[in-house]
Amino acid sequence: MGCIFCKIVRGEIPCSKVFENEKFFAFLDIGPINKGHTLVIPKKHYKNLFDMPEEELKGYMEVIQKVSKAVMKGVDADGVNINMSNESAAGQVVMHAHVHIIPRIKGDGLKLWPQGKYKEGEMQTVRDKIVNYL
Ligand code: 5GP
Ligand code: ZN
Repeated sequence: MGCIFCKIVRGEIPCSKVFENEKFFAFLDIGPINKGHTLVIPKKHYKNLFDMPEEELKGYMEVIQKVSKAVMKGVDADGVNINMSNESAAGQVVMHAHVHIIPRIKGDGLKLWPQGKYKEGEMQTVRDKIVNYL
């Protein structure tokens, strides 16, 4: 079984396409969080953000911004969340890189992220571990 998003790019599976250029493709998510929920994907198969070469990222973000503006106007949204799940532990189900543009309406009541807390000194320790790899 091939990749479902590669099939969408090739036109083998129908979709509600909203944008396409040489490298990127955007279409409505079949299970929208709010109406107008859109996915932006590279046409080339990359598993997720970690797999994408740096030279693809500027163009990707430009398309995400362009499509977000159209989504905002098109569904009369008050804001958008931009989400990208990377790896199954983060909720990535389709293993072809994709960014969700989720239109938000004032008072829609969606709560995306619960917030936790650090213990005394823990924030610095965690920060130091991350910085080690940069
Ligand atoms: P993930 O959970 O991997 O970040 O998101 C995958 C998204 O792809 C889901 O929101 C799901 O609704 C959407 N999706 C899965 N299969 C299809 C499909 O065949 N067509 C469209 N338009 N969206 C799909
Ligand atoms: Zn693919």
